[in-house]
Amino acid sequence: MIKTKIMVTIGPACSSTQAIAELIDSGADILRINFSHGNPAQHLQFLQSARSAAAGCDSSVSVVGDLCGPKIRLADFADPPRTVKPSQQLVITSTYDPDDPAALATTYPTLVDDICVGQRLLINDGSIITEVVAKASESFTCVCRSAGLVYPGQGVNLPDTVISSPSLTAKDLVDLDWAVANQLDFVALSFVRHSDDLIAARDRLRAAESNIKLIAKIEKPQALDDLDAIIAHADGLLVARGDLGVEIDLARVPLVQKDIIRRCQLAGKPVIVATQMLSSMISSQTPTRAEVSDVANAIFDQADAVMLSGETAIGDYPALAVQTVDHIAQVSEKFQDTHASVVPALDLDLLPRSQAALARGVHKIATEARCSLVAVWSQSGAIAGLLSKTRIGVPIIALSSDPAVCRRMSLDYGVIPWRMDLPKDSADLLPALDKLIQDNNWAKSGDNIVVVTGHPLGTVAATDTIQLYCLGYTNLAPKPNHNS
Ligand code: ATP
Ligand code: MG
Ligand code: MG
Repeated sequence: MIKTKIMVTIGPACSSTQAIAELIDSGADILRINFSHGNPAQHLQFLQSARSAAAGCDSSVSVVGDLCGPKIRLADFADPPRTVKPSQQLVITSTYDPDDPAALATTYPTLVDDICVGQRLLINDGSIITEVVAKASESFTCVCRSAGLVYPGQGVNLPDTVISSPSLTAKDLVDLDWAVANQLDFVALSFVRHSDDLIAARDRLRAAESNIKLIAKIEKPQALDDLDAIIAHADGLLVARGDLGVEIDLARVPLVQKDIIRRCQLAGKPVIVATQMLSSMISSQTPTRAEVSDVANAIFDQADAVMLSGETAIGDYPALAVQTVDHIAQVSEKFQDTHASVVPALDLDLLPRSQAALARGVHKIATEARCSLVAVWSQSGAIAGLLSKTRIGVPIIALSSDPAVCRRMSLDYGVIPWRMDLPKDSADLLPALDKLIQDNNWAKSGDNIVVVTGHPLGTVAATDTIQLYCLGYTNLAPKPNHNS
């Protein structure tokens, strides 16, 4: 039972119900559908498989839809690929002209308006570096600094250019509406530049009366200048190291990763580390030493979740890749339990006093009474999320009668979401909880646990009771007589 959460990307290599069930059995908590690839029919098929696999596994696994954002790609051209060499000039036109074999176009026709002479234009995750040397009204000219093959659809990065296109493109709005209509649990926004991007998405969700949670993917240098406001407006962050590593100096990516994780931890927001975690496992049954170390370091840094991309989407060993993350997490967390973290815990003094008091109380009882776990009735997920961010050191069994809340809690570090019908009588909760915990082998008879509840049970924002409880006690105690 690991506390780190595992997000996996669904793709052609794992799209059947059975394949997704295997991912869930291997430890997947969050399933990602990337709108950058495939088509609406495929996304719907992924979702249907995900839902039936989750039902079959009796799992609260959640689904995140990843919006493309204003990712610029090379437009289609005839006779691909084109070879480019150092010093060669490339002409990028606003619209593709099939009669001009030397010209290229992008999926962002007004790029010529935004770009300036002297700025870099990178193709294919930065493998081809060019620099703009001249500009005309309908085109601009770049000089190549490196060699390579150019294909249609390859990504274009402009690390020096301020792009005027909105962060939510027309396609993103269609995909966002699809996510709402299909009741996805999270939506990730790509290429977030400032907190306004999140406000725009939130306004649209509010208008649709949706409470889908918003994850900000951090992959633009501009986002780093507005990071605290982005964290404040997002429900979670994702360190999207793929494009980030092209947009900023690659050597700075580890520092930025640590900084984002630390700031999310202090602000009490979940954070996911993504891209190339185990990429050699796309075609190999074992990861490299460097990859294992990378996953472990994300865990030592206090990331809530790590993400797999191509490893599960197009890899040869999707389930094995998830099992590998799970195993690394088991070993890393065991080390972490006995070594002080270098990352400061959530600053409870920034919270309302009653919440801070509750969190400190749970922490103190759990530590002093050597509790095996904390069980919390968290109808809205809020108190479970708060306890998760205090990094309490033991698992948090989080109960709610609302299945959507249970799915959303799947991202919270250390939280095991469990859907339970509200007991008719709150006195019935302890025996039911006792049985649930022992049936699942989360703890054993005689173990101390902390039970956190509210009155009336199941009411949002009513948490007021912390109880120290010894498992097995209800089996020994005489049954209370409700009639007397
Ligand atoms: P992002 O920048 O959003 O992470 P990406 O292009 O890096 O986009 P990932 O979701 O990280 O894509 O997946 C890694 C690879 O898996 C992609 O390059 C793509 O080849 C493949 N892939 C992902 N989803 C799909 C899909 N639905 N259909 C086909 N291939 C996919
Ligand atoms: Mg990206
Ligand atoms: Mg990626």
